[in-house]
Amino acid sequence: MATDYDAPRKQDEELKEDSLEQLKASRSEQQSGSVDEDEVEAAEGFELPGADLSNIELSVNVIPAQDDEFTCSQCFLVHHRSQLAYEENGLLVCAECAA
Ligand SMILES: [Zn+2]
Repeated sequence: MATDYDAPRKQDEELKEDSLEQLKASRSEQQSGSVDEDEVEAAEGFELPGADLSNIELSVNVIPAQDDEFTCSQCFLVHHRSQLAYEENGLLVCAECAA
């Protein structure tokens, strides 16, 4: 009786394992699909602050030099006057570019 009982039970377990693996596979597929959507949504959500940051960087580059600052004619970076190496024909050159 034990052998007869074990034989069908083993088959049942195998069937259960198969169905479980199928369930796991379909679940992981569904989960990965939802994760991809979340990642896409997250990426789209991150684009807005990123665009804002790029605008800030652009505005920083466009800001004219202050009274105690100058824009280097070679690297086009705004430096403090203490970084001014020399001025030639109205073109200011910073110490880094003059070095
Ligand atoms: Zn420079």
